[in-house]
Amino acid sequence: MIKVNHLTKRYSNFENSEEGVIDVSFEVKKGEIVAVIGPSGSGKSTLLKLLARLKKQDSGSYSFGDETKIGYVSQEYTLWPHLNVLENLTLAPELKNPNNKTAIKKEAMKLLNKFGLEKYLETYPHELSGGQKQRVALIRSLMIKPDILLLDEVTSSLDPELTKSVLDLIHKLADEGYTMLVVTHHVSFAKSIADKVLFLKKGHVLDYKDAKSFFESQKNSEIKSFIADISHKYD
Ligand code: ADP
Repeated sequence: MIKVNHLTKRYSNFENSEEGVIDVSFEVKKGEIVAVIGPSGSGKSTLLKLLARLKKQDSGSYSFGDETKIGYVSQEYTLWPHLNVLENLTLAPELKNPNNKTAIKKEAMKLLNKFGLEKYLETYPHELSGGQKQRVALIRSLMIKPDILLLDEVTSSLDPELTKSVLDLIHKLADEGYTMLVVTHHVSFAKSIADKVLFLKKGHVLDYKDAKSFFESQKNSEIKSFIADISHKYD
């Protein structure tokens, strides 16, 4: 379903050319969940932004088969502060389809009900906890009925209690059968949800394999020590 071929994006600064994503190739099947793991600066965000078409690659390519609707959520994609939860969900779809407002509202209510956030319908973002905001942002990404979800460290600014509520929601999305690329530092979460793990280092793919062999029979000592390190920190 997702095919990435020799994807490369380098950032050029004044003095040096910083590495973003270099010669990255991998494939993901429909319904698979890929945990994207790697040290800070290894290119995880850049990769997801390229696939979300928020950045343009220098070379290489990717394709999504017949699936074209891509949902993307990151820490930076915050809610509009002057709109309540329902309006946050409906604004973009309504602008695109002004004649369809009733159906759009209905879809938003359906999603909020399904994921237990219906009581916040008229709540404004500043009245929500960080975890609730991120859950609304995740639900908002479902309004376009995406085939693929790209989630970039959606829990990175949350404390552990709120993190759990967001990870639980991502579990529910996994159960719904979405194909997902999920950037995460949470090893136990990755173990519980991922079919495959993509490990990046300095823009390169250092490992890409099924999650069970990645975690249980990892041979690479650098990856092993990184995983031990982040499990200690985040789990
Ligand atoms: P990660 O998500 O794994 O932390 P990023 O994709 O954010 O990694 O960054 C990869 C590398 O690209 C880092 O060295 C980072 O400093 C650099 N980088 C990211 N965005 C930019 C940018 N807009 N301009 C210049 N360098 C960038």
